Amino acid sequence: MRLLLVEDERALRTVLAERLKKEGYSVDACDNGDDAAAYLQGAPYDLAVMDIMLPGRDGLSVLRETRAAGRDTPVLLLTARDSIEDRVRGLDAGADDYLVKPFAFDELVARVRVLTRRKFNSSTNLLTAADLTLDCASRTVTRGGKKIALSAKEYALLSYLLHNRDIVLTREQIEDHVWNYDYEGGSNVIDVYIRLLRKKIDDPFPRKLIHTLRGQGYVLREDPD
Ligand code: CA
Repeated sequence: MRLLLVEDERALRTVLAERLKKEGYSVDACDNGDDAAAYLQGAPYDLAVMDIMLPGRDGLSVLRETRAAGRDTPVLLLTARDSIEDRVRGLDAGADDYLVKPFAFDELVARVRVLTRRKFNSSTNLLTAADLTLDCASRTVTRGGKKIALSAKEYALLSYLLHNRDIVLTREQIEDHVWNYDYEGGSNVIDVYIRLLRKKIDDPFPRKLIHTLRGQGYVLREDPD
């Protein structure tokens, strides 16, 4: 999942970005409204966490522009004051949720999970295919009841494949959602990570879940055809 974080308080931005990366999100961060609008236009984010009070344009203005452009990226607003008026303005501008500062990081992470779930029409934290299960809350992966240890990137890739179960994904789609702007790897990085992931979740098992479609991309599904 690729996430945009917009927060002008540097210490908070740094801590939040680290925490969200640790949760398996691919994070781009910026500190003002103009950059936020450009980022939101430039990449298909799965979610944005955005402070309202920003230097220059505020978060509400960025949000309104994003919605006016027809983008439905879920947006969680951060607000310094908890007044009903602020809440109404945020929701009217098209926010999906909001959190009042100061907040507990655990709560932010939980709400981010809910919004991600909603985006993919899922009502639980469990993503499954055959005997493979990924638990977004505890960040654990099991297959056939056996726990499988994955690196952060492998986990992010598997999570994206499972959220899009049965849907063929191009390499470009995978790159856009699992990697962020910091990434400047070679063009075959997707294939490399698919191979690493297969080694752990598919190779030891007779039933394969990740399938390659020549000239198209990859799909995670139970049915090989
Ligand atoms: Ca601020």
